Amino acid sequence: MSKPKVYITRNLPDEIIEPYKGDLDIEMWPEKEVPVDRHILLEHARTSEGLLTMLTDSVDKELLQQSENLSIVANMAVGYDNVDVVRARKKNVAVSNTPDVLTETTADLTFCLLMATARRLVEANQYIKDNQWKNWSPLMLAGSDIHGKTIGIVGMGRIGEAVAKRAKGFGMKVLYHNRSRKKEVEENLGAIYTAFDSLLEQADYVVCLTPLTDETRHMFDASAFKKMKTEAFFINVSRGGTMDEQALYRAITDNEIAGAGLDVFEEEPILSNHPLLALPEVICLPHIGSATKETRYKMMTLSLDNLVRHFQGKPLLTPVT
Ligand code: NAP
Repeated sequence: MSKPKVYITRNLPDEIIEPYKGDLDIEMWPEKEVPVDRHILLEHARTSEGLLTMLTDSVDKELLQQSENLSIVANMAVGYDNVDVVRARKKNVAVSNTPDVLTETTADLTFCLLMATARRLVEANQYIKDNQWKNWSPLMLAGSDIHGKTIGIVGMGRIGEAVAKRAKGFGMKVLYHNRSRKKEVEENLGAIYTAFDSLLEQADYVVCLTPLTDETRHMFDASAFKKMKTEAFFINVSRGGTMDEQALYRAITDNEIAGAGLDVFEEEPILSNHPLLALPEVICLPHIGSATKETRYKMMTLSLDNLVRHFQGKPLLTPVT
């Protein structure tokens, strides 16, 4: 029997792909760093039965309409805002993502970013390397405390909960906001359910961990930043579209908030002349929330497992429903 044709939109390691070659007829975009050209993706989607996509690939109306053979898109990310899931469902194309395997790794990065922002680690590193460290002084590179402060987690899902655990370890008070309450997080971690505006008013660290949806797009806008404390920091590890970057820039330069730690941006990669990058109060990372070798390998394997199961007629391990 012929194997189902699968196109992988980035060059993944041989050691990961090799075990799947018995079940899948795999072709891959040859580049490791550069996303697949749109016309190549469309061409392969037209002839493939499965796609293994990255968050940089847009699986949209155009792609889905022209891809008559396609029956599954395995997206190598927990977020799936790059996939038109409603249209995929209408076209009977299954969609899977990679939840759970990246939760702890992304929570580690979120807390790292919070700490680096609060304690000005990037500035401090540069200070030495630029040969500016000539003396000790009482307020040299003085940052903000983390222990004993209040964290406000917007999006208390899998990653939000893992961040709350870390915050508890640092003796922080944990507030959270979701559309629905999570009683087990309240009981187990003492997290307090708080209305969005009230969380903004109380938190010293506002951490965004929601998916990007029509509802969360620009949830952090000028009015949200205005409600935050002047000494508070905004940390975003969800998707850049949840924040209005111009409003964030203004909030920081007008001293409405103290600074920000950002792993995600409205346009990725962010341009090097973007005004946010010039602010010392802003720490920026190139979307590396889940970027450890262990976790990325698990995400690749989970995506491939979903593809194999789909073509074997078995339920997906992690379907997007
Ligand atoms: P999850 O378990 O689905 O958690 C998302 C949480 O957001 C849920 O608790 C949900 O609760 C809440 N939420 C959804 N819409 C909301 C709204 N309008 N207002 C307030 N809360 C809302 O997902 P996860 O695994 O924790 O991942 C969260 C997101 O992190 C992903 O979607 C992805 O975009 C991002 N992420 C980024 C990286 C990175 O590298 N930077 C890595 C992994 C994940 P309710 O439904 O009750 O509202």
